[in-house]
Amino acid sequence: MRLYGKESLKRRLDSAAAHGRLSHAVLIHGEQGAGKKVMARYIAKLMMCGAPPCGSCNICRLIDGDSHPDVIFVKRKCGGKYAKEPFYENFIKDSVVYPNNGGIKVYIVEDCDDLSPMLQNSMLKLIEEPAPYLRFIFTCENVNNMLETILSRVTEYQLSPPSPEECAECLRESGCDAKTAAELSDTFSGNIGKCRAVIDGGEEKKLIDTACRAAAAIARKDRFSFAAALTEQSGRAEYAETLEYLTKLLRDAMVIKCGGSAAYFGKKESAGIAAAYSEERILEMTDAVFYVNSKSRLNLNLALTTAYLTSRMM
Ligand SMILES: [Zn+2]
Repeated sequence: MRLYGKESLKRRLDSAAAHGRLSHAVLIHGEQGAGKKVMARYIAKLMMCGAPPCGSCNICRLIDGDSHPDVIFVKRKCGGKYAKEPFYENFIKDSVVYPNNGGIKVYIVEDCDDLSPMLQNSMLKLIEEPAPYLRFIFTCENVNNMLETILSRVTEYQLSPPSPEECAECLRESGCDAKTAAELSDTFSGNIGKCRAVIDGGEEKKLIDTACRAAAAIARKDRFSFAAALTEQSGRAEYAETLEYLTKLLRDAMVIKCGGSAAYFGKKESAGIAAAYSEERILEMTDAVFYVNSKSRLNLNLALTTAYLTSRMM
């Protein structure tokens, strides 16, 4: 199996495993959509099938389907932090049970950023003095969220996102048409996870749609619809991401003004803004959105922020 944008990391891992130097506890870190889960499955196959894994035996197929009885994804509450009870039951306590097939048992703990320091501490001993059949694969976005004591006991590997070309190739292989694949991978700088999220019409698609609605309102000089679109966002993170997309649309409007053509999403909306405003105004608007987003880590009041932006836009 090809791991997009991860060939060099894959070779390092293959070589470590082939020489018996693959650690029993591995931490994969990389941004959202960089392919941490795919890499975790690959390492599980390295540990259980061989180096490099064949990709077609029963073990490999079961791991790819997340149904191998000895490759366990530690569960957590949907969408939130890991809860104490299930973490102990499904992981810490469960680890004393021998593997089904007498071989090894791999625990995959995803998004360790969501593990409280207490839960991280609870696995220290397990990682340090594991039963001979135990292997651990951890993933996280930011290693700064991991305790130093954990980091000193695992081997870290960083995942960088694939290049836009590799990303587009991967999207094409999963059935996306060439044009959309190229545009998406360009928009998201090769982040396969985000591209897929848009194709699947999930949360990301919703944020883009909202940004497009806000942009359309700007083009119509419709203050009410602009504020309404932004007010829809429930949390700070969604708000900031919507503004990020809005910045892209405004930049595209500027590009259209200068005779270029817009990116994939919001072509119509960007063209609308380009037709309705001067270059100077579009630049001012871009600055305003950019300014607000650069402050979004501060505890901005979203209602006030929306009022500010509305007044700066129209
Ligand atoms: Zn295999």
